[in-house]
Amino acid sequence: MTEEQWKTIAESTDIGEAGFFCACRTTGIVCRPSCPSKTPRRENIIIFEKLSDAVAEGFRPCMRCRPDDPDWHGAAAELAERAKDYMDAHCSDKFSLRCLSETLFVDPDHLERTFKRAYGCTLLDYHNRSRCGAAARYLCSENCGIAEISWKLGFSSPSHFTRVFRKYYGCTPSAYRSGCEKSIAG
Ligand SMILES: [Zn+2]
Repeated sequence: MTEEQWKTIAESTDIGEAGFFCACRTTGIVCRPSCPSKTPRRENIIIFEKLSDAVAEGFRPCMRCRPDDPDWHGAAAELAERAKDYMDAHCSDKFSLRCLSETLFVDPDHLERTFKRAYGCTLLDYHNRSRCGAAARYLCSENCGIAEISWKLGFSSPSHFTRVFRKYYGCTPSAYRSGCEKSIAG
């Protein structure tokens, strides 16, 4: 196993095809390097270039990363991307997992898991981050009040807006606005 292969396996970051499979001696399972399951100890991993070779040696394809299903991985990455695009385009709507999963014709749990695996955060987290980004732009450039911005971006109340905004920006919307005004004036 090369250092690069080990890195790909340990970080589970590869979304596309890494061009190899990793089997675990102790579990008897063969995975894609990007498998979200716990990474086996390095000394227990055997690298295979072809899945069929691993299967011939008695390894079973993993049920989580489905190395035996060539379409699965691409579909997951594509689904996550579609969810992201949708949320980017609708960042001022109130977030609803049910609504999003119905729009994309998928099971909500599957969508949530797939998204988290691709982008490392939950759908709601992503949505909140993108609408706080939009809020920050409003706060700096437009002359509308906190309550109006909160309403525009689908927060349930100004205090909800403040709470969520503080989580991503570390300050309240009004403190953020005075910061912008100062930097414009200065
Ligand atoms: Zn796996």
